[in-house]
Amino acid sequence: MSAAPEPIWDPVERLPRERLRELQLERLRATVGHVLGAQPPGAARLRAAGATDPGEIESLDDLAGLPFSHKSDLRDAYPFGLLAVPRERVARVHASSGTHGKPTVVAYTRADLDAWAELMARCMTMAGVRPGMVLHNANGYGLFTGGLGFHDGAERIGATVVPVSGGFSARQATLLADLGGEALAATPSYALVIAQALRDAGIGPADLRLCLGLFGGEPFSESMRNQIERELALTAMAFYGLSEMCGPGVAAECPARRGLHVQEDHFLIEVVDPDTGESLPDGEEGELVFTTLAKEALPLIRYRTGDIGSLDVAPCDCGRTLARVASLHGRRDDMLVVRGVNLFPSNVEHLLLGVPEVAPHYRLILERDGPMDELTVECEPASAGVDEAELGERLERLLREHTGIRISVAVVEPGAVPRSEGKAVRVVDTRAG
Ligand SMILES: [Zn+2]
Repeated sequence: MSAAPEPIWDPVERLPRERLRELQLERLRATVGHVLGAQPPGAARLRAAGATDPGEIESLDDLAGLPFSHKSDLRDAYPFGLLAVPRERVARVHASSGTHGKPTVVAYTRADLDAWAELMARCMTMAGVRPGMVLHNANGYGLFTGGLGFHDGAERIGATVVPVSGGFSARQATLLADLGGEALAATPSYALVIAQALRDAGIGPADLRLCLGLFGGEPFSESMRNQIERELALTAMAFYGLSEMCGPGVAAECPARRGLHVQEDHFLIEVVDPDTGESLPDGEEGELVFTTLAKEALPLIRYRTGDIGSLDVAPCDCGRTLARVASLHGRRDDMLVVRGVNLFPSNVEHLLLGVPEVAPHYRLILERDGPMDELTVECEPASAGVDEAELGERLERLLREHTGIRISVAVVEPGAVPRSEGKAVRVVDTRAG
């Protein structure tokens, strides 16, 4: 007897790639036409590059001739300068926290919100959410897209949503047990805070019905995934998105967990060399660039995400034809250049969490000591009785061996590394100013 096939939310997810490309081309022309007609700053940039007629776009290869857009375009047009619909047609706004001053505001029409809920229903179905399942949503509700994104997707599927939002970790533990949460949506770092709260409350995996984790909002390494799965006794699925596209729902993992399927009928993905902007072949690591294909309020052409990953278009065991993003390292902005060596915090995370005596709470502190950058990793022992000096020395050797740079390790008291209710602050850079 063979198992019943996993459900697929929308037939478009298994469209033959040739037909998918035809659909993308048609939608690309419509998006370019929309920008030319309704988004003055975007239209000016297109015209300056000689793109004045969407009918002249003959194939998807012509995309490479269109200009990029950047996060700074959103900041320069703050808050509503990139709207491509009258302000009155905006049904909702969200915003991402600005690391440099003002937040990035994004806007949705009613149709954009509907499309987003559909995309989340697709991604959450792909990850294993089913009608009637209890979803404990510990993503922050509000301007952050995580809360309402998972909320709307779960309602669309017909799941039972518990809109806990972030914070009040002790209460999270009680509600998770009492209401029988089966799926947990959170940032990976907050999932670990909840795991700690469960231990503090004496609630073990046997007291829970938890079996599935939906994690996004920040990159996480395979070691972190393993750690979360061990601590919460669930299967952890990765979600990827950014508010400039819609929020979560841009890409997510299927049960094969060999990359995140991109919702390519809504987002045209390219991978480019982050320095030259040249397109890179499938499989090569570079910066992810997205063009929205169905957005009304905020269409964006060739938007530079700053996120690093690679693309895999090989057929997937799950039957979906959608390309997958693999080796997501997180934002290029988060990449540290320490004494000339490129280092992602997720690289350090992977090494640290591969050591059983290390708890999954850490941060990287960058200081300038004279002309040199000094990097210190703060981390905590996983249990009492660990020889901290020996552990610190062992970690320093491990990090040096695998990264090629000297990194100091400070093993601090359990609980000393600040915890986060949303996206964790992994890097403290004291070099500026
Ligand atoms: Zn798949």
